[in-house]
Amino acid sequence: MLNKISTKLATSFFIVVFIMESFFMIYLHRDTINTRVEDEYSRLLANGANHRYVLTENYSDTTIKHILLMEMNAQQDVIITNKTGDIIGSSNRTNNLLEIYQSLRNDLDIKEDKILVSDWRNSPYIVSAHPYKINENQFGYVVMFHSTRLINEMVDEMNMHYIISGITGFIVLFIVYAILSKVLTRPLIRMKEATEKLSEGDFKVTLPELGKDELGELSFSIQKLANDLEHLKNERNEFLASIAHELSTPLTYLIGYSKVAMRKGLNDKDREHYLEIIGEESERMKDLVKNLLDLARMGETSFTISKEYFLAPPFIKNVCKLVLPSFEMKKINLNFVCDENFEIYADPIRLEQVLLNLLDNALKYSNKSSEVTIIANRKDEKTVISVIDTGIGIPSDEIGFIFEKLYRVEKSRSRAYGGSGIGLAVVKELVEAHGGIIEVESKLGIGSTFKITI
Ligand code: ADP
Repeated sequence: MLNKISTKLATSFFIVVFIMESFFMIYLHRDTINTRVEDEYSRLLANGANHRYVLTENYSDTTIKHILLMEMNAQQDVIITNKTGDIIGSSNRTNNLLEIYQSLRNDLDIKEDKILVSDWRNSPYIVSAHPYKINENQFGYVVMFHSTRLINEMVDEMNMHYIISGITGFIVLFIVYAILSKVLTRPLIRMKEATEKLSEGDFKVTLPELGKDELGELSFSIQKLANDLEHLKNERNEFLASIAHELSTPLTYLIGYSKVAMRKGLNDKDREHYLEIIGEESERMKDLVKNLLDLARMGETSFTISKEYFLAPPFIKNVCKLVLPSFEMKKINLNFVCDENFEIYADPIRLEQVLLNLLDNALKYSNKSSEVTIIANRKDEKTVISVIDTGIGIPSDEIGFIFEKLYRVEKSRSRAYGGSGIGLAVVKELVEAHGGIIEVESKLGIGSTFKITI
C-alpha cells in the first residue's frame, strides 16, 4: 500500500501546519483583541479624566451641560454625580444605562480614576469612574460608559476571518496531498509494478524519466536492471540455441555413421573407418562438453584463481611436452623461447589450460610444415606469453568476435579443422580472472599471434 506514503506525509504535514497555524492564530487573535480593548480602556480613561479636569477647573451647570452634550453619541455616554452618587447629569437616560449605573453605585467610593467594568464580553458597556473635587463639601464622580457592541462586532468579524483562513488552510493541505500523491506516490507505484513484472520474468518494462532526484535515480536503476535482464535473457537464449545446434551436428554424424557401420555385408576396413569417425566425433563432443562445463563454472562466483609463484621455463617446457606429439603428427615445428629464468605469479593449472587452448588453436589453424613459436618473458613486473603461428590467420573484420562464446570464423572451417568456438572464450575468462589481458594480431594467410599479459 504505497498510497500510504502520501497520506503519511500529508498527515505529518497537516499536523505540523495545524499546530503552527493554531498557535499563531490564537496568539494573533488574543493579541489583536487585547490591544484593541486596551485602546478602548485608555481612551475611556482619557476622556473621563478630561471631563473631570474641566469640571474641577470650571464647575458650573453650563460646564456639566457641555460635557453631556459632548458625549451624546452612539458609542459613549457619561453620568455626572454628586458626592452621594445621585445623578446630576446624564447624556443618556435609557433604563438600561441607569440600571447599570445603579448596580455600580456602591463601587464609586474611589480616590482616583478607575475602570469599574472591564468585562467587554458579557457587559453592554465598559465603565470608568473619575472622582472630582471642587472643595471639601462639593465633590462627585464622572462615570464614563463605552458600548462594547463595536468590540464584540470586531471580534465576531475577526473570528469569521480566522475560520475562513482555517478552511483555506485545509484546502491548501488537500492540494498539497494531491500533489504529493501525484509527484511521489504514482511513480513509486509504477516502480513497484515494474519490479513485480520483473520478478514474474517479464523484463519489458518502460518507466518514465523522472529527473535527477532520488526517485529519478531509483527509476533509472530499475529501468537499467530491466534492460540488463532482458539482454541477459536474449543472450542466454541465443547461447542455448547455439549449444543445441553444436551438439546436434556431431550427434547427427554419430547416428549416421553408426547406422552405416551396422550395415551387414560391410567389410572390416570400411567398418573400422566408420568407427574411427564415430570415435573422433565423440572426442569432439567430449571436448565441447568439457569446455561448456568450464564456461559454466566460470560464471559462478565460486570460481576462484589460486595464484602462486613458479618458474617459467620448466612450466612452459612441460606444456610444450604435452602438445608435442600432436604437432609432430601434423609435422609442425614447435619452438620455445625463454631467455631468462623468471617466476610467474599465476594459477598453474589455469595457465596451463590457457596455453593448451592457444597451442591447440595454433596447431588446428596451421597447415603442414609451418611453425608455431611460444615466447615467454617479463615486462614491467608482468609475465608476457605469446603464441605465434604461421597458419591460416583470421580475417580482420572477424578478429573482434573470436573471443565470444561459440563464435567461429566461417562455419565451414569447423568441419575442416574441428573446434566449437568455445576455447577462446574460456581463455579470455581465465586470463581476465587473473587480472590479465589477452591481445591478438592476425593476418589472413600469414599467421596469428595471441599475447597474454598477466
Ligand atoms: P574453436 O574451438 O572453433 O577453435 P575458439 O574459440 O578457440 O574456437 O576460436 C574461435 C575462432 O577463432 C575459431 O573458429 C578460429 O576460426 C579462430 N581462431 C582461433 N585461433 C586461431 C589461430 N591461431 N589461427 C587462425 N584462426 C584462429
